[in-house]
Amino acid sequence: MQNRWNNQDAARHTTDLALRVYSSRLLGQDSSLVLHGGGNTSVKVTETNLVGETEEILYVKGSGWDLESIEEAGFAPVRMAHLLKLARLESLTDPQMVNELKTSMTLASAPSPSVETILHAALPYKYVDHTHADAVVTITNSHNGLARIREIYGEEMVIIPYVMPGFDLARLCAERFAAEATEKTVGMILMNHGIFSFGESAKASYDLMIELVTRAEDYLKANNAWDLPAPTATGSSKSLRGEISTLRQEISAAAGHPMLLSTDMSPACLSFARRADIGTLSQQGPATPDHVIRTKRLPLLGRDVAGYTAAYRSYFKENATHAKDEKTMLDPAPRMVLDPELGLCCAGRRAKDAVIINDIYRHTQQIIQRATLLGGYQALPAHDIFDVEYWDLEQAKLRKGGTPPPFSGEVALVTGAASGIGKACVEALLARGAAVVGVDINPEVKQLFQRPDFLGLACDLADEAQIPQALEHAARRFGGLDMLILNAGIFPQGRRISELPTAHWRKVLNINLDANLILMRESHPLLKRAPAGGRVVIIGSKNVSAPGPGAAAYSASKAALNQLARIAALEWGCDGIRINSLHPDAVFDTALWSDELLQSRAAHYNLTVDAYKHKNLLQVEIRSCDVANLAAEMCGPLFAKTTAAQIPIDGGNDRVI
Ligand code: ZN
Repeated sequence: MQNRWNNQDAARHTTDLALRVYSSRLLGQDSSLVLHGGGNTSVKVTETNLVGETEEILYVKGSGWDLESIEEAGFAPVRMAHLLKLARLESLTDPQMVNELKTSMTLASAPSPSVETILHAALPYKYVDHTHADAVVTITNSHNGLARIREIYGEEMVIIPYVMPGFDLARLCAERFAAEATEKTVGMILMNHGIFSFGESAKASYDLMIELVTRAEDYLKANNAWDLPAPTATGSSKSLRGEISTLRQEISAAAGHPMLLSTDMSPACLSFARRADIGTLSQQGPATPDHVIRTKRLPLLGRDVAGYTAAYRSYFKENATHAKDEKTMLDPAPRMVLDPELGLCCAGRRAKDAVIINDIYRHTQQIIQRATLLGGYQALPAHDIFDVEYWDLEQAKLRKGGTPPPFSGEVALVTGAASGIGKACVEALLARGAAVVGVDINPEVKQLFQRPDFLGLACDLADEAQIPQALEHAARRFGGLDMLILNAGIFPQGRRISELPTAHWRKVLNINLDANLILMRESHPLLKRAPAGGRVVIIGSKNVSAPGPGAAAYSASKAALNQLARIAALEWGCDGIRINSLHPDAVFDTALWSDELLQSRAAHYNLTVDAYKHKNLLQVEIRSCDVANLAAEMCGPLFAKTTAAQIPIDGGNDRVI
């Protein structure tokens, strides 16, 4: 294991807390030590308060912060004197503990202190580092784990049996540590949970963590339980979007709201899912309670070759009591599914949640496989895992979440997404919580947004074969399709009918009409399975009702598309899919309108550019974002009972009215 300490970098950090931040970040950089908010660290310092008294303060990682990116503001300052008194109490409920920790802080605006705060306070060292290191939990979760830990660390570690994180664990650690620690003690192992190191300096504590975890890694290597066979499984190139969207539909139904479903068909995940013993391995508990907390019902469901549907049904039935239980805020939907063909599927209301689950389970796969090589994976008993779900602290955290944005768990696809109205639609949908697939012939769309809830696909919609490919991509990444925004189109140079070449006419109709028909047809099976009903929004044009001379191909294509939308509303209403159109006019902040073109059009009407932009009844400028916000709202609850509507967004036009 790499020791990332750098004396030059460290020298730039002069206070105890600054060094605490520095070495916490080093721990956070190694995903085999700390994953997504896991692990916590602390430092004890002496401070003088406003009335001149000196106090010992524990700066401990606050909730909501990741070690990898933590700052000084991410540490909660808690008065040591009170923490040490709490550690001696006979019992303390979780809500009481949360209250005591919060009211013992010296800074009201600091984040809530970690649930492991009292444990940190009870360890008599200036710096305390705690991780859920993969190598350590691999060994504690394997057959004869306790004996192996003793063999590796001898008397250097105090070993604590598994207790759920919270006050009872803190008290047990404090007692055991006081009774068992000797001058040889350099750390503490929490069975089925993780490892603590400590020291009088940030470097000493960090170095020890690396050294102790390296010993666990070396033990695995020496026992031929480190190197895993190279995964050989390869993903299928056939269409899987029907199966994926069905699975997502079932998970969403169990959750009671739409969920994203992200598939990982990497060789490692497919090989793991295809193991002959996957039925047994996948049904065991997680490697550390932290993983349950972060992923809720993580590894409880594995699909065997018999087929997933029966497995899900029985799973949902078994867990129905949890859903009905008023005490728990958790729904019975699985957050991950293993499938021999779909690989590792991770579900979440946000794309980020699915990414976190994927990361955690990829590490878990490695832990399980290494522990298996070591003699067998032995996780926590199932009832301990379920205890965590009822854990008061977690309940409180879940309740604090607030109302999710309106399109949470839903997927939208926008065509012509690289610029103008399409790009604005992507932004409007992301802002409302949707995961968005942006499609454009311009490959720059792939780099449009670097975030887990956006997928940019370069795709020529005029090429019929590329459309199903784009939908397959979208389904594999996010699980299906709920909203389709048909925006892509071309507005060619004006031509009178008498001079209109056939090729020009065909090109415009191919892109503005035919491509949309194919996309709608191919999207229908996915939209039909949208958990909250499918929505299609057509970006039409003023030209539908007020055509202009010289725009025969464009106006005809948009009018035909308008008619297509009306037919779709008739045909798809029974599938819960609603189709609405909006007709923008004079949206000048798009790629179609250069400054020169604007100036020449304005001059044509004897107007300034500004007056030309406001040339409508309301005298307002229509921007891409206005059109995009209307398109997004048409997918929202306001339009839940509306289909086949056509709404102008043009500032009022006397030719249309
Ligand atoms: Zn922990």
